[in-house]
Amino acid sequence: MLDLTPKTMTERKALRINPCKTCQPVGAMYAALGVHKCLPHSHGSQGCASYHRTYLSRHFKEPAMASTSSFTEGASVFGGGGNLKTAVRNVFDIYNPDIIAVHTTCLSETIGDDVGACIADMDIPEGKYVVHTNTPSYVGSHINGFYNMMQGFINYLTVSTGTPNGKTAIFPGFVNPGDMREIKRLAGLMKVPFILFPDTSGVMDAPMVGRFEMYPKGGTTINEIRSLGDCTEVLALGPMTNTEPAELLKKKFKVPFTLLPLPIGIEATDRFLMELSRISKADVPYELEEQRGQLVDILLDSHQYTYQKTVAIYGDPDIVTGLTSLCLEMGMVPKYVITGTPMEEFTKEVTALLERYGVTGAVVKANSDLFELHQLIKNEPVDLLLGGSYGKAIAKAENIPLVRAGFPILDRYVHSYLPLVGYTGMIRIVERITNTLMDRQDATCADEDLETVM
Ligand code: SF4
Repeated sequence: MLDLTPKTMTERKALRINPCKTCQPVGAMYAALGVHKCLPHSHGSQGCASYHRTYLSRHFKEPAMASTSSFTEGASVFGGGGNLKTAVRNVFDIYNPDIIAVHTTCLSETIGDDVGACIADMDIPEGKYVVHTNTPSYVGSHINGFYNMMQGFINYLTVSTGTPNGKTAIFPGFVNPGDMREIKRLAGLMKVPFILFPDTSGVMDAPMVGRFEMYPKGGTTINEIRSLGDCTEVLALGPMTNTEPAELLKKKFKVPFTLLPLPIGIEATDRFLMELSRISKADVPYELEEQRGQLVDILLDSHQYTYQKTVAIYGDPDIVTGLTSLCLEMGMVPKYVITGTPMEEFTKEVTALLERYGVTGAVVKANSDLFELHQLIKNEPVDLLLGGSYGKAIAKAENIPLVRAGFPILDRYVHSYLPLVGYTGMIRIVERITNTLMDRQDATCADEDLETVM
């Protein structure tokens, strides 16, 4: 058994430094961008909306379209209901979306605007929709905002006709468009009719067509969200992001759900495929069997470089859990596993996962931050960092290689087009981790040793 207990522990409760998360509205905005012809609307000041749009645009390298209620001093004192009504009228007149998805900001939450009552009081054009959710950023993170917005859509739009539509609803969680495409490819290969909700592929990875398209082709349609209540079941990929919307759908429309880990790594991908096979009764096609076999071969080949290498993993709860599982499958030792999102299920899930592989004493924390991670690494370093761009400062200060994975990745391109999920995603990550560790080895070995390997 490996014992990784650090020599000293730091405990800081009232303050976060370099939080490993961002505002609830960032998640709400991203979920709304995964609905076809939807314009996310930020009910608050322009500064919040600009920040959230910029954050998403920097990660996806795509315009994140959204409107704002543009609060000034008057709205801050007297409430923002009037601003919201004017904004909705203007947005339908000028930008012509099919649906506006309103989320709140800290300011409107502090004032206590009753957004639901305000929407009920609006003149909404025929055939158009306005939905909302509350996203106070002083609780939770962008992950809470993401699933809150999903619930907003379900609450306003979903119905049950009593006639099953024969489809499986798949909730992918807060992942890149590249992941959503891969999840759809796997479901297609397994012959499962499905509705992916939300679906940012074709929106946040839209092709260049030579002209600006406010509403690209992608996104879950309004009709698809309406018919979620007629789905036969839900596959919720990522329990920490999807439990609440799955439970809501069950409570309102009696649609049963299965919680699965995000399909990152071999075991989690196998589980996803087995569930798909249970639903469609289809065998796993040779194309996937072959890819899995290639992946196992790659793991055997690269094992000598990854075995027993220690790694610090940080980011969003479901993605970090998936990456932890993937690293364990590579023979690596996750030493610090943290998320900034306050969810105690995370600690339980990751601790159980580590125990299964015989790793004890690792630091596993929810509601943590990158300052704390840096302190831990200063006490006892690791061989590799795995997470978003903000780990770069730790990597530089401690001279530890960083492999970027998860959200946000602000200083690299193309990553959001390529999956982390499925066997395809794991092959990609194994390639990056192994080659990064080999680069490090090359950089530290003597010149004469280098010549012998060359
Ligand atoms: S005020 Fe709240 S919602 Fe706006 S940027 Fe700050 S934390 Fe985010």
